[in-house]
Amino acid sequence: MRAAVFHGPGDIRVEEVDKPEIEEPTDAIVRVTHTAICGSDLWFYRGESDRDAGTGVGHEPMGIAEEVGEDVRSVEPGDRVLAPFAISCGSCEFCRKGLHTSCVNGDSWGGDNGGGQGEFVRSTHADGTLVRVPDRYADDEAVLESLLPLTDVMGTGHHAALSAGVEAGEDAVVVGDGAVGLCGVAAARRLGAERVVAVGHHEDRLDIAEEFGATHTVAERGEAAVEEVLDITNGGANHVLECVGAASAMETAVEVARPGGTVGYVGVPHGMEGGLDLFPFFGDNIALRGGVAPVRAYAEELMADVLQGTLDPSPIFTETVGLDGVPEGYRMMDEREAVKVLVKPWE
Ligand SMILES: [Zn+2]
Ligand SMILES: [Zn+2]
Repeated sequence: MRAAVFHGPGDIRVEEVDKPEIEEPTDAIVRVTHTAICGSDLWFYRGESDRDAGTGVGHEPMGIAEEVGEDVRSVEPGDRVLAPFAISCGSCEFCRKGLHTSCVNGDSWGGDNGGGQGEFVRSTHADGTLVRVPDRYADDEAVLESLLPLTDVMGTGHHAALSAGVEAGEDAVVVGDGAVGLCGVAAARRLGAERVVAVGHHEDRLDIAEEFGATHTVAERGEAAVEEVLDITNGGANHVLECVGAASAMETAVEVARPGGTVGYVGVPHGMEGGLDLFPFFGDNIALRGGVAPVRAYAEELMADVLQGTLDPSPIFTETVGLDGVPEGYRMMDEREAVKVLVKPWE
């Protein structure tokens, strides 16, 4: 099969690799019809995180189950499925408490499983991992593109909103205008936040934030951004979603939190080698919650809203490419020409 392979920073190639096969009775092979390039893929692309050369990349697969192992019960060949960025068993202590990212049987899409940005991928623990799209919507292209963000960024934005304790009628501030931040805006509105302030650096992305329900947008940086948010919220918001992971974003987040408020963070921490300064949290009793998002826990709930037409995160896909366009897709995301790139491996 053909798949995108990492060869080193800035070097993603599409090449022939071994097609994954069923190895365990709980495995499924999925023919990937839709997948995406992720902001978190840029860490290894930029050489800011380590990754072995020669490994398959991608972790946001959607497709059609081609073959399932004999113990798989929830999915049959021919079913349209999507899967979160982490493989999970669905039955261990942590899966049962909705913390699928801590699954004791957890697995990733890379390595022998083929990577999510290729023609086929193997899901181990298929029953716990794959989410079936109802047959009625299984070939509805618009619906499928709206569901694809549930594999990662929409679930992650939702996790930020839940971690920040967003409640109906309250103010929420979203720090970050990448795909996760934009989905955080949609999630905060979905949970009933009245005022949602989106803080970012790019006017075109903040336009999408408005489309997703932001009532205010702030395109400043640093102290200027903090002052503007404090002004809009009359002294800060009780619920702040940190959707970047950079030390500067965390600083902004705690500074725009109202005393006694909560910061929900989902950005992969970076640039914090010197540690996180807890003093601003201490001084105003700001709580910090969050972490890597267990998006599997939210898939059914968010899918129900997409299918009934009340949630549509698909505008984050500002570019679409075929498999051969994956290297160009990385470049576009790296250079911020695209918010997020949709990949259709068979087109
Ligand atoms: Zn991702
Ligand atoms: Zn588990």
